Amino acid sequence: MGEQPGISRRGIMLVLSSPSGAGKTTLTRNLLDQEQKVALSISATTRTRRPSEIDGVHYLFRTKRQFEVMRDSGELLEWAEVHGNFYGTPREPVEKALADGRDVLFDIDWQGTRQLLDKMREDVVTVFVLPPSADELKARLERRAEDSASVIAHRLQNAAEEISHWQEYDYILVNRDLDDSFARLRAILTAERLKRVKMLDIESFADRLLADLKKMAI
Ligand code: 5GP
Repeated sequence: MGEQPGISRRGIMLVLSSPSGAGKTTLTRNLLDQEQKVALSISATTRTRRPSEIDGVHYLFRTKRQFEVMRDSGELLEWAEVHGNFYGTPREPVEKALADGRDVLFDIDWQGTRQLLDKMREDVVTVFVLPPSADELKARLERRAEDSASVIAHRLQNAAEEISHWQEYDYILVNRDLDDSFARLRAILTAERLKRVKMLDIESFADRLLADLKKMAI
């Protein structure tokens, strides 16, 4: 639905941020399932792998030393320390996807978002996902049950810090209902794809249209 046949466009860097447990991961998964033109940016991290996670699919799990080498050799578009671990976005896959006219989805925190905005404001669209309430956020983290009680307590503390940056984002989704939030997220993507500045050959298309109309008027 978002694509206009015959009009090529620049890829969008779609950034999703939220505290853990606000529903961002499910929104991300749904978007990747339903939008063939969207590729996920797979981050590198020094965090321990959770049982359900696969190296190379959910994250590139790296040692601190390996991460530092990536960071120091300029392989990362952005990086940050989150919850005591390092996370970063490998540059090459993003540049490749954008060059292929694909959109790239980033699940990164406010620190990484700031860095992408500083470097590539024109290409970046930012969305912040808020939980409907503090109680609901806590319940969702507990239901996930993959993390220990102390990790959950730490994440709740960090949620307030992450949420305090909501005003730095272009769009806000209050995630009461996943289907509603997903429909809104797709609407954002569709509208952003239709922006004039995103279209690569719209000028020649419009020029041709005007030239043809002129001929008709003669
Ligand atoms: P988790 O450990 O729960 O998977 O992720 C913790 C936080 O790190 C999330 O808020 C997530 O968005 C953020 N994060 C994941 N990958 C990156 C990354 O590459 N860069 C930055 N800046 N944050 C990331």
